[in-house]
Amino acid sequence: MKVQRFASVEDVLTRLDPSYPIFCIFPDVLKDRARLFIDNFPGTVMYAVKCNPHEIVLKAFHEAGVRDFDTASLTEIAKVSELFDDAHCYFNHPVKGRGVLDSANRVYGIKDYVVDHISELDKLNAVVGTDIIVEVRIATPKGSAIYDLSSKFGANEADAVMLLREANRRGCRTAIAFHVGSQCIDPDAYRVAMELAAKVAARAQVPLEYLDIGGGFPGHYKKDIPPLSAYFDVIAKTNDRLALGIRLFCEPGRALVADGCSILTQVHLRKEKDLYLNDGVYGCLSEVRDGYLDPPVRAIGRKRTLEGELVPFHIFGPTCDSIDHLQIPFHLPSDIDETDWVEVGLVGAYSLALQSGFNGFYTDAVVKVDGVNQVSA
Ligand SMILES: *Cc1c(COP(=O)(O)O)cnc(C)c1O
Repeated sequence: MKVQRFASVEDVLTRLDPSYPIFCIFPDVLKDRARLFIDNFPGTVMYAVKCNPHEIVLKAFHEAGVRDFDTASLTEIAKVSELFDDAHCYFNHPVKGRGVLDSANRVYGIKDYVVDHISELDKLNAVVGTDIIVEVRIATPKGSAIYDLSSKFGANEADAVMLLREANRRGCRTAIAFHVGSQCIDPDAYRVAMELAAKVAARAQVPLEYLDIGGGFPGHYKKDIPPLSAYFDVIAKTNDRLALGIRLFCEPGRALVADGCSILTQVHLRKEKDLYLNDGVYGCLSEVRDGYLDPPVRAIGRKRTLEGELVPFHIFGPTCDSIDHLQIPFHLPSDIDETDWVEVGLVGAYSLALQSGFNGFYTDAVVKVDGVNQVSA
């Protein structure tokens, strides 16, 4: 489907009367979000493409001034490079195939590569050479992120020191990267990780090009999550105190894109307090399933106004699998019924990117909506 542009979500519903799910992207919201990061983060803001690689999203961030992109595959690198002449991609996946490295280097001219093991450094040097920046990814302590990302990737302190020295000895330039985990709800996790990076830097004694403090900044799915300003404060203060004197990067995905999108679903069956929607955990609501995230929702009546008080409904998705239901209720008007719509907000991150198409249910209607998102936090 060609991307269409609408004045509001109501305009989408009036013009399309959709019985299929529609993914709404609010470019103005995305641009504001990117500018908030660019204006307040004490360094350069990259966008983590995997979080939502839709072209409208990438273009909105580029328009707002983002030029640096955290990419993890040749597909992501190709997409960004073909959209923008002036983009700088960083290959920030710690495990890469030889053919992929060769193409990244020769076709796309990628210069920045993450490693967390000596074998990956050997591979990188064998395929790409040494005229590169080797970013050593360090594992961070398990903190208060909903999704831990250091159980799979990241070198311990001693190995990180060894990798930096070895990369330097071989003639590569060096940098340090980490990721505190996704949906990190404690700003102090960045202080702890930055101190660890400073310790590694002090022990390695090699020149560093930059420190990349990763993503992890939260979406505001719940009321008690600290504001982004608390994160920027901690990071700026820690950076001043550590006085590393090098360029700082961050690579937010979720916090940049979460509230710039919503998904419009329709009720296809009501059984008392159970609602069967046309999108679910195999679609754009996979992260909502386990209930860590509690996104805002609103109901919109089809050709009528819903007037009932808000009551909890149990939500089922469209596939035939019993897993396809949400662990948290949606609070919706008591008179909601078949053909009414439910708009779920804060679903920009890890939604469209994760849907599977299982059972033939897939959201391919993606539209642009002007102005603000009415179901944000
Ligand atoms: C997933 C990922 C990100 C983005 O993480 P968010 O929690 O969405 O901000 C950034 N950097 C790397 C290396 C990642 O793997």
